Amino acid sequence: MGEMAVRVANLQKSYGEIRAVDRISFAVPVARVFTLLGPNGAGKTTTLEILEGIRDADQGEIEVFGKRVRRIDRAAKERMGVLLQEGNFEPYLRVKEVLRLFSAFFRSPRSLSDVLREVSLEEKENAFVKTLSGGQRQRLALGVALINNPDLVFLDEPTTGLDPQARRNIWSLVTGLTESGKTVILTTHYMEEAEALSNVVCIMDHGRIIAEGSPRELAAQLGRETLIEFVAPPGREPSRESLGPTCKAVHRDGDLVVVETEDLVATLARLLAWSGTAESALAGMTVRQPNLEDVFLSMTGRRLRE
Ligand code: ATP
Repeated sequence: MGEMAVRVANLQKSYGEIRAVDRISFAVPVARVFTLLGPNGAGKTTTLEILEGIRDADQGEIEVFGKRVRRIDRAAKERMGVLLQEGNFEPYLRVKEVLRLFSAFFRSPRSLSDVLREVSLEEKENAFVKTLSGGQRQRLALGVALINNPDLVFLDEPTTGLDPQARRNIWSLVTGLTESGKTVILTTHYMEEAEALSNVVCIMDHGRIIAEGSPRELAAQLGRETLIEFVAPPGREPSRESLGPTCKAVHRDGDLVVVETEDLVATLARLLAWSGTAESALAGMTVRQPNLEDVFLSMTGRRLRE
């Protein structure tokens, strides 16, 4: 990998008895999306807040843009942009007033019109915050995070609560950031979001990093299995043996029967034969490759979102 925007080693932070971040180490490559993925309470926000300079770590080493720092100082902050998890803006300010307010915090802010264009809010510049949709509000928050033309952008759960279209708009803005050379550190508990955006994913659980790699590398750790899923009532699933030696497992996930196979064609043939004798319609059958949710499930026995 090339140059690193951030490196941390053995980072640790406790709140009383709770070890929110438990000696984690990682490196964030320049102009890439680096994602911390994990369930609520995994320690993602705490990690971000340390790197943003909002909290101090108890222990650990931090390097930002090649410089070792004890804590994030003013000079490092000038190069950072932060999208806060709940960026609540004053409802009776206009969009351009919010941007102007935040631009006053920086020595050389970008022009408001450039920022408005980047987050597609030109037509809303005079609108009051309270009249914006959830997606528009989040784009305004992103505009605020970009006002100082940062090299490193922190996005803490940027699409929580947004509808699918608004989520995709944010995704394409994030992709545009790395194309223009910016580094993005993202947290999310949406597996699809991590998969769609990330170059590197660290899966966090209970303050620790339990897996790291590109989404494809992580899914490949599960082996070459393909998953066949269909709906069937409890007790009406085929046995693993009945689907032949290339079928690796059959298990249940609620209403779904999940069949793991190394040989899709052979297992499908057996499954079709089984469906005839068992009078199963194989309702809603889908075939897919393992994803990050499957990685998390196999490592922890739990789902990302329970
Ligand atoms: P979420 O997705 O819910 O934001 P997260 O992965 O970002 O979760 P953190 O917010 O970093 O996780 O929390 C990690 C742990 O530390 C949790 O057990 C949380 O309850 C605890 N914690 C976080 N902030 C504080 C605080 N200010 N005081 C005490 N405990 C805290």
